[in-house]
Amino acid sequence: MTEERFETRAIHVGQEPEPITGAVVTPIFATSTYAQPAPGEHTGYEYSRTDNPTRTALQTALASLEGVNPGDSGGCIATSSGLAATGVIGYMLKPGDHVVLPNDAYGGTYRLFAQVFTQHGIAISAADMTDLDSLRAQILPETKLVWVETPTNPMLRIIDIAAVTEIGHAAGALVCVDNTFASPYLQQPLSFGADIVLHSTTKYLGGHSDTVGGALITGSDELLTQFRFLQNATGPVPGPFDAFLVLRGIKTLAVRMDRHQANAATIARFLEDDARVDRVIYPGLEAHPNHALAKRQMLGFGGMLSFIPKGGIEAARRVTSATEVFILAESLGGVESLIEVPALMTHMSVDGTDLEVPSDLIRLSVGIEHIDDLITDLDRALG
Ligand SMILES: *Cc1c(COP(=O)(O)O)cnc(C)c1O
Repeated sequence: MTEERFETRAIHVGQEPEPITGAVVTPIFATSTYAQPAPGEHTGYEYSRTDNPTRTALQTALASLEGVNPGDSGGCIATSSGLAATGVIGYMLKPGDHVVLPNDAYGGTYRLFAQVFTQHGIAISAADMTDLDSLRAQILPETKLVWVETPTNPMLRIIDIAAVTEIGHAAGALVCVDNTFASPYLQQPLSFGADIVLHSTTKYLGGHSDTVGGALITGSDELLTQFRFLQNATGPVPGPFDAFLVLRGIKTLAVRMDRHQANAATIARFLEDDARVDRVIYPGLEAHPNHALAKRQMLGFGGMLSFIPKGGIEAARRVTSATEVFILAESLGGVESLIEVPALMTHMSVDGTDLEVPSDLIRLSVGIEHIDDLITDLDRALG
């Protein structure tokens, strides 16, 4: 099955019919413990913090989507949230270590590094990673980790994964790419040399805004062993029902992403031509400063889009309160379209830092509703 294409692997890898009953869908193994034939002689499962079959199926499938197939070195751990996955990486760092983050990382990632890990002796700095010299300037002898997020949130800058990885590796640092915004359907960071891929499966992978989860994927057996040890030692595991929901979500990832990005591209062009809009940020637009890189590094431009309406923060408040199909809410990547003002909602924690975002910026997570209804809604809300 590992020779098959992405769409096929998403539905089948790790998800063979269940051997006892032939159930076509991986069951929710709601159990904490497993009978052992003799003391210490378990059959691969002993306790569900360590392993659970529903979670194993999800991990095998997620790894395959990032290019790590059964039999390859490396693998995946599924975690209780995206930030729990970041937490596992934090446990690998030691006092004195230094980490470089992108200057518009996900707000929660920044908060975890800046307000928690720094309390344990980890030093951080932020770089504009679209400018490789800015990244080089932040590298120190103690730099152990370079964190990449691309497209960035909410400015949708595109970072060159291969180039950043080269700089990180030359400094002896690991490179971790948060691939949540693109999803593995559009971008596979391990293929550009990255060491670790992180996902918030809450977003496109789950795809239905009905569960919170995360994952780490690596092509290295050594890193996988560390992840598995740290996850078992510290406990951030998803329950089997959450693993089931993400597993169900990824089966339709390809068709959903196709529609997400087709809708987003149409909306980007609509807003770009509209006199009530000051600026549209979408990597698929030729006017986007990183458009050529996005074309090279991604298989599509994704479903996230940001724009600045004319009229400042008051206009941003008015538009986001006036939409009816677009729901005013945090998060992204679900089938339903969402609208938000990052500076007032998701990015409060980066206020006054290097990561501050324009106060009048509106972020859209474009869903898979009918495009005409989405355009009509935005047109009316713009007033
Ligand atoms: C949501 C998100 C996270 C955090 O994931 P949770 O599942 O909410 O913990 C990390 N990175 C990005 C890019 C995200 O969008």
